[in-house]
Amino acid sequence: MRRHLDIRAGLVALFLAAVAALGAVVWRTGYVQALQPLSQAGESDLALAADRLVTQLSRYREFAVLMADHPALEARRAGGPRAAADNALLEATDRTGTAAAFFLSLDGRILAASGPGDPFDMASTEVIGRARQGALGAGLGMMGDIRVFTFAAPHFGADGTVAGTLIVVVDLAALERDWRGSLPTVYFTDPGGRIFVTNRSELLFWREATSATLIAPEGRRVALSVDRVGGHEIRQQDLSPYIPAEAVYLTDHLPVIGLTGHALIDVTAAKRLASLQAAAAVAICLFFGALLFLATERRRTLALANQRLEERVSARTRALSETNAALRREVSERQEAERQLTRAQADLVQAGKLSALGQMSAGISHELNQPLMAIRSYAENGTAFLDRGRPDAAAGNFARISQMAGRMGRIIQNLRAFARQEAAPATEVGLAGIVDATLDLVETRIRAEGVSVDWTAPATPIIVIGGEVRLGQVVLNLITNALDAMAESVERRLRIRITEDGMGHALLTVQDSGPGIEEPERIFDPFYSTKAVGAAEGMGLGLSISYGMIQSFGGKLRGANAEGGGAIFTVELTNAKAAA
Ligand code: ADP
Repeated sequence: MRRHLDIRAGLVALFLAAVAALGAVVWRTGYVQALQPLSQAGESDLALAADRLVTQLSRYREFAVLMADHPALEARRAGGPRAAADNALLEATDRTGTAAAFFLSLDGRILAASGPGDPFDMASTEVIGRARQGALGAGLGMMGDIRVFTFAAPHFGADGTVAGTLIVVVDLAALERDWRGSLPTVYFTDPGGRIFVTNRSELLFWREATSATLIAPEGRRVALSVDRVGGHEIRQQDLSPYIPAEAVYLTDHLPVIGLTGHALIDVTAAKRLASLQAAAAVAICLFFGALLFLATERRRTLALANQRLEERVSARTRALSETNAALRREVSERQEAERQLTRAQADLVQAGKLSALGQMSAGISHELNQPLMAIRSYAENGTAFLDRGRPDAAAGNFARISQMAGRMGRIIQNLRAFARQEAAPATEVGLAGIVDATLDLVETRIRAEGVSVDWTAPATPIIVIGGEVRLGQVVLNLITNALDAMAESVERRLRIRITEDGMGHALLTVQDSGPGIEEPERIFDPFYSTKAVGAAEGMGLGLSISYGMIQSFGGKLRGANAEGGGAIFTVELTNAKAAA
């Protein structure tokens, strides 16, 4: 997570650095491009200023040339009065705006003047020398503390040779007056590099020592920072509030007047334009960068949410598979337990059967013994009847014998079925027949114990779904329990009924006049018995086995205390008629 953050912060920083670099490149390119028109405009400004100066000075040059041949001057040179010549000069200077004019003889005497002053202070000997040689001299000079430009024109005599010189002095400040303060900063330097004419008065008399150093009139040196940008010289200076701090430096030599023009063009506009272009480029980059960043952030958030979801899903899947495995384990454990239970139940049933077999063996041996004795006496009697020639009576005896043998066969069959493990499939069985057969089995005991049996078979036979032998076992168990319960009772009455409930069921009830059931809710529990422990008949399995058997026929076995006392057991079975 932290690594991701670091990478993202790094990427953002990289992007910002790239945008900054791009901004710088755009700024630089824009600046260089903007300098071009700026410098062109500056060049024309400088040319204009130079033209204006040259044109203005030309006027005075022409004035000097024309005035040199003035008749008043000629008369004065020829020895005429000075006043007329002075007047002519004064009038001409007044008209042309010239600062002063002097007429000199070849030997340097002042023949006429427009006013006071020393022309040799103002015009250099070189300038005057050129006029004496017949050419036009021109140069800078000072009239007191006034900057002047002087022209020296030759005055020719009648023989065509130079006979004098006319010095015309022009006040440069008067020329500057029109364009002082105008834009851009322009100045003109003399061949020595001294600033003599300018539209920024604070620059006057500064000297350009080198291209990077200016010397103030009082001798102080000021260093400039000079740079080249796209072929333009850029100067940085701090000279005055009216001179641009950073400017394109332009220069132009003017051979006509012997001066060099210079211009300083403020680069602020170019910088502003470049800044605007750079700002626009940066803003666009930042805008698209922000869009890109937001989109990636969105995608990243989605991917994170997805990943979290997947993790949660896989965790849930893992938990579910674990639960599944646990469930499967539990199911197999339960199945194993069920198998064990079934085995235990089967064992129990078998044990119950064996126990019942034990119970029954005593009664059964008695039951078998009785018909056997009867068969024996019927057989002996039958033989006697035959001897006496009474075959009908013998036949009657044989029929009885056959009946007895049939009954014995049934008893034996019951015994075998009792001991057999597997159950015959349920079929249709007559319920009354089973009750009769069971009563047959316990007839001896009933008689011995003086129990009155209240049993009437229903008028129409009722057929149910069940196993004959197993149903017999159940009925035998119920009757035996009833007889056991009534052992201590004074009144011993056994009531057996078969009815239909009208809902497709046949009901067999066995009711006794015993003391009733002690704990009705426990009687179907295996090994629940109130009878003496170890007694042949008390294992507590009879009812639980009977319950299971009836259930296997799809029926129900209930036991309860009857209202008038004693217990009543009800076997509910499916009526075969209804089932059909
Ligand atoms: P056992 O007869 O071996 O005790 P059973 O499962 O047949 O086992 O009966 C369980 C118990 O139910 C008996 O011990 C007895 O307490 C009670 N019982 C069964 N039939 C009756 C009845 N007719 N009257 C009173 N109690 C009964």
